[in-house]
Amino acid sequence: MSPSAASRPVPHHPVVIVGGGQAGLSVSYHLKALGIDHVIFEKNRIGHSWREDRWDSFCLVTPNWQCRLPDFPYAGPDPKGFMLKDEIVAYIEAFARRFDPPVREGVAVRRVSRRDGGRVLEVETSAGTVTADHLVVATGGYDIPIVPPFAHALAASVTQVHSVHYRNPDRLPPGEVLVVGSGQSGVQIMEDLHLAGRTVHLCVGPAPRSPRRYRGKDATEWLMEMGYYKLTIDRHPLGERAKEKTNHYMTGRAGGHEIDLRRFALDGVSLYGSLAGIDGTVLRFADDLERNLDDADEVYVSIRRDIDAYIAKNGIDAPEEPPFLPVWTPRATPTEIDCAAAGITAIVWAIGFRPDYSWIDLPAFDGRGHPRFTRGVSPVDGLYFIGLPWLHTWGSGRFLGVADDAAHLARVMSERLLAGTAAAA
Ligand SMILES: Cc1cc2nc3c(=O)[nH]c(=O)nc-3n(C[C@H](O)[C@H](O)[C@H](O)COP(=O)(O)OP(=O)(O)OC[C@H]3O[C@@H](n4cnc5c(N)ncnc54)[C@H](O)[C@@H]3O)c2cc1C
Repeated sequence: MSPSAASRPVPHHPVVIVGGGQAGLSVSYHLKALGIDHVIFEKNRIGHSWREDRWDSFCLVTPNWQCRLPDFPYAGPDPKGFMLKDEIVAYIEAFARRFDPPVREGVAVRRVSRRDGGRVLEVETSAGTVTADHLVVATGGYDIPIVPPFAHALAASVTQVHSVHYRNPDRLPPGEVLVVGSGQSGVQIMEDLHLAGRTVHLCVGPAPRSPRRYRGKDATEWLMEMGYYKLTIDRHPLGERAKEKTNHYMTGRAGGHEIDLRRFALDGVSLYGSLAGIDGTVLRFADDLERNLDDADEVYVSIRRDIDAYIAKNGIDAPEEPPFLPVWTPRATPTEIDCAAAGITAIVWAIGFRPDYSWIDLPAFDGRGHPRFTRGVSPVDGLYFIGLPWLHTWGSGRFLGVADDAAHLARVMSERLLAGTAAAA
């Protein structure tokens, strides 16, 4: 007779990893190399967010050579190219096949806590409860799509969809489309619609932009050479505020190019300032379009300046580029538009995401709900985070830096497990 659920012992794992994306798998790779028993709980399938949370034409913005999963760097034919969504999934799957991680797909972690100040963490999952000495949160940080509080005031006649649910132009109703947000997703979705011949309107926010190819190389190659990707958060001039900075916009589409919104304006895309309010079919915009375009260009020009200075200082022979000149300037931009009159039938929200840590019942967060940690090691004994932007370096939340952070966490856990074993002996 099988023991009743009550008398069955609760399974214990030295390490539980929550999330089977590139970050969770990278930690698993290093734990396996160190011979540390662990399990990954992944509520969907490995690489889920690349499979399901990106639009059809999605490709990386960072070049393929930056894909450096542990001991598994990109080895395809196009290191300077930008993998498409399916190729990214294939890369992650190939990495997993290589070391056969102990992943349990389809199992969601619903709560983690420490009962009565006990030594082990209690982990409640959709497949039952387990305990763990260590738990790594590798859930990505893009859990809750953000929409503005006034989104509910939009008339039902206008379809609204968040970027996470946007797939392709044909899935939106016929008519003109307004994209809200000019971060990486917003500008790429705007371009996707524009290239498909849709009439597009774009609310331009405060996101900065980056050159793509400059003076003979991709800007990311120059930044690599200049040591930017080695800069750690503790030495960053902005300190912790670096974590809140919006990503620079550009694209990897069709071999990669920069995005100058002024050129899109000349090409028929209508630009507005930030969206400030909605009343039925009427949208109100802030009067900040010119400032937002200028600010984005200032960052763009400053990156070019830094590259110029590096080239000059090191006497590098690199082709010259013409100075940047704005090709278009907003004049009398409307501060209000009526979707019904303009023929706008859909709005795409591209204003970002919030992480969901509501399932972590441990004192690991600051007053604003942000996890506290030093290079992923939280002040709560046995709790770790990985895969977040500027967790340690710029690359920590991307393919570039996750391997180093994973190696670091695996080392810390290994030392602590050994110390625990020694103390118990
Ligand atoms: C639109 C967009 C574009 C990006 N472009 C690039 C780029 O060009 N280059 C680059 O290097 N990076 C890019 N990134 C950043 C980063 O590489 C990705 O976000 C990447 O998916 C992060 O990997 P991860 O493993 O940290 O998280 P994720 O890939 O999000 O994986 C987290 C996993 O955790 C699972 N999960 C969540 N909660 C639970 C739970 N409670 N229990 C069990 N499982 C759970 C999810 O199902 C998911 O599979 C981009 C991000 C976004 C959003």
